Amino acid sequence: MYTKINADIVQALRRIVGDANVLTDAERMEPYTHDHVVGLRADPEVVARVTSAGQVAEIFRLAQRERVPVTPRGAGYGLSGGAVPVHGGIVLSVEKMNRILEIDKKNLMVTVEPGVITGDIHRAVEAEGLFYPPDPASLDSCFIGGNIAEGAGGPRAVKYGVTKDYVCGLEAVLPSGEVITCGGKLVKNVTGYNLIQLLVGSEGTLAVVTQIILRLLPLPPVRMDLLVPFDDFQVAADTVSDIIAHRVLPTTIEFMERDSLLAVERLLEKEFPYHDAAAQLLIQLDGNRREAVEADVDVVGELCLEHGARDVLVAQDRPTRDRLWEARRAIIDALTHESPINHMEDVVVPRAEIPALLKGIKEIAARHTVRIISFGHAGDGNVHVNVLKDSLPDDTWEALVPAVTEETYRLTLSLGGTLTGEHGIGVTRRRYLSLALDAAQIELMRQIKAVFDPNYILNPGKIFP
Ligand SMILES: Cc1cc2nc3c(=O)[nH]c(=O)nc-3n(C[C@H](O)[C@H](O)[C@H](O)COP(=O)(O)OP(=O)(O)OC[C@H]3O[C@@H](n4cnc5c(N)ncnc54)[C@H](O)[C@@H]3O)c2cc1C
Repeated sequence: MYTKINADIVQALRRIVGDANVLTDAERMEPYTHDHVVGLRADPEVVARVTSAGQVAEIFRLAQRERVPVTPRGAGYGLSGGAVPVHGGIVLSVEKMNRILEIDKKNLMVTVEPGVITGDIHRAVEAEGLFYPPDPASLDSCFIGGNIAEGAGGPRAVKYGVTKDYVCGLEAVLPSGEVITCGGKLVKNVTGYNLIQLLVGSEGTLAVVTQIILRLLPLPPVRMDLLVPFDDFQVAADTVSDIIAHRVLPTTIEFMERDSLLAVERLLEKEFPYHDAAAQLLIQLDGNRREAVEADVDVVGELCLEHGARDVLVAQDRPTRDRLWEARRAIIDALTHESPINHMEDVVVPRAEIPALLKGIKEIAARHTVRIISFGHAGDGNVHVNVLKDSLPDDTWEALVPAVTEETYRLTLSLGGTLTGEHGIGVTRRRYLSLALDAAQIELMRQIKAVFDPNYILNPGKIFP
């Protein structure tokens, strides 16, 4: 269906992006063969590192002429295989488009290129007393363009929402090679269909994003973190929905069960407080006035103790806070260290259903006699469910993963939830799309894809079953 990359195409790419930005050598292309999905790999035939929207447009025109697939790539930290070139062809990397173009303090907006590391945006705007809240746990590695494409979330979603809530403007290149500019430094905009929100979360299948305008907030000066250990896993889960129902809105409520913390200890070779607790909540509160934040800390702390928390550890300064968060940020790496073969789901349910979800997952684990470790953004109903192969035989594992996945999805859907809260469908979940969406919706999405990309050259093999 697609043309193989030949010497003429490589030569044309060299003319577009320059010799130094075209990679054809297998060893140099190896980092572009995978993202962070365990065991998923595919070889690009060539990698082109772009530095402008004009270059992206030229690559698309070439790809249309020659009928070769183009897979956009950010930092490759995705967890659904979106940047993996499953049909070969050109990997189009935005890694060199990494400038923060403007921090506009009058309009509270920042304009960036797609290859800026998300954490660098945080640091740059915070130095100006401003705040970009979305904070995926991968923020020191992933790119903002990848966050836009995946509709990334993060712990602070409980109070501040996710990436989509901050995108006011996008420049994007369509597969036809046309460059479009949507929105701008506008807080309000209802001019025509909302193409910005169509592109956010489109997983690199509709256009390549080349410039982004993000809304900023004033940086809340007071931040406090609570680490709350529980001796009973289910009590910790119940406490999450009770905090939300109590009309205190924490910035984050993260859930970690004992096995995840022990895995982090083994990876980082150090001890964390209350590592023997069955589960821990990591709760952050922020605001403008210390007294107000302290009052909320008291309410949440007392509520946790009433539920039977073993203790409430409060961190008020940066180093203590960083220590508390160190374990949470390392969980994904720790689980891979623990069992190099593992499988992660990213289900999301209405927040009040978190206890039922976590209980149901324990039952699935018991039914299949497999280790499943759940952790994540419990405060917004989004839990990462990690199934570990450990020493299971290969054939047992291969039969077990689809069964556990499908049971987890059916449980989630029965609770009013859906398949993925922030990692996307990509390659790994596409065969399950029809469990969550009816045929009419999938058909509508296919038609949208065909309008943007009638020749199916942009990131084929993703989202659709
Ligand atoms: C340890 C770890 C922790 C994580 N924590 C979180 C978390 O808390 N929250 C969360 O939401 N995710 C999390 N993730 C997943 C991942 O970090 C996010 O999905 C992130 O948005 C991916 O960005 P990236 O630059 O690495 O994108 P990539 O993996 O390179 O690409 C992801 C998708 O975006 C497309 N894409 C990339 N750039 C562009 C562009 N400029 N234009 C169009 N399409 C593009 C690609 O084609 C692909 O489909 C985590 C991952 C890891 C490994």
